[in-house]
Amino acid sequence: MPAKTDFDIDIALYALNYATRLLVSELDPEKLVRQIIETVADFSESSEISLFNYDENDTSFSLQTAYSKGQLVESEHEFKLTPEIKKCFASKNPAWYDLQLIDNIPFPAAGPIKNQKCLCFPLVGQDNQVMGLLVLAYGLEKQFLENEMQILRVIVSLCSTCLEKTRLFKQATIDGLTELYTRRYFDVILQKEMNRLKYREGELCFLMTDIDHFKDFNDTYGHQQGDTVLKELASLCINYKKDEVERIPCRYGGEEFALIFPSLPKAKILEFVEELRQTCEKHAFSGQKKSLQVTFSGGLASITSKDNLNLGQFIKRADDMLYKAKEAGRNRIYDYSTHSIKK
Ligand code: GH3
Ligand code: MG
Ligand code: MG
Repeated sequence: MPAKTDFDIDIALYALNYATRLLVSELDPEKLVRQIIETVADFSESSEISLFNYDENDTSFSLQTAYSKGQLVESEHEFKLTPEIKKCFASKNPAWYDLQLIDNIPFPAAGPIKNQKCLCFPLVGQDNQVMGLLVLAYGLEKQFLENEMQILRVIVSLCSTCLEKTRLFKQATIDGLTELYTRRYFDVILQKEMNRLKYREGELCFLMTDIDHFKDFNDTYGHQQGDTVLKELASLCINYKKDEVERIPCRYGGEEFALIFPSLPKAKILEFVEELRQTCEKHAFSGQKKSLQVTFSGGLASITSKDNLNLGQFIKRADDMLYKAKEAGRNRIYDYSTHSIKK
């Protein structure tokens, strides 16, 4: 990093251009937070940085991610809002505070604490609401040149805009009940994967599922209990063998989920979907008095680059197989290529 007297604005602008491209292209809020901290660490000469979330509605204030001695630390600590932080939020401008370290994580607090101070940037969104706080720890001797501070302000405001964008994107694409991607986003992703198939080898597969006799389930146990099942089944679809099997889990309709498999070979997918069905069959879903069982049926569709299908035709392939699975007695998965799957 440049010494205090020779801050090189050209190099800083060049790096800023690079960082901007990196940050604006990220759509995942968690990945973005890590990128923000790393970018700020690169620009700020601070080796201890924290990013806090603030929710204006319930005034919750929690540490999300920190950076200490070159390491990222994920966290979900809740903190009280001190009067100093409230003042910093109200001013919407960066401010210096004495520094307290909690588990090596910088946290602004009143009172003299050893040889460090911290710079707090409120993260402000489009309609001027505060979304969080970025805290950078420094030795007491640290001073900023005007340009250096300006660049940091630009970066922080870029980070705020990107954070807000990813949060809005998440709200628009993630279903509130199940945390699966929405139907609209499913269409977008599947079309994108179909386009990508033109330039790669192999097949593109997706599974359409539908819970068996779910209307009866709701009639027997109530819709709230039904919602609990939807959430738990969605969680299985998201998390079961998450590290081994890449999938994009979506809520296609009410109790119909769709799992897109963008990268795996068909044989592995067949194995996985059958395991998922069996896992659901054995799963003890939380109930009010006792645990409950549900099953689902599924239709698996696949295409290669040689198939000339549009999105609707591809979805229909899976739908037809789902229909067959229901007709054959439910709690089974039919595959389009073989028109069967071993149970
Ligand atoms: P099948 O085995 O043929 O699929 O029978 P089914 O009763 O599941 O029939 P269908 O798939 O047509 O029924 C869908 C049911 O799913 C109807 C509705 O009550 C329920 N459902 C859809 N969305 C929700 C939801 O968000 N919450 C709850 N609790 N139930 C839902
Ligand atoms: Mg249905
Ligand atoms: Mg159903």
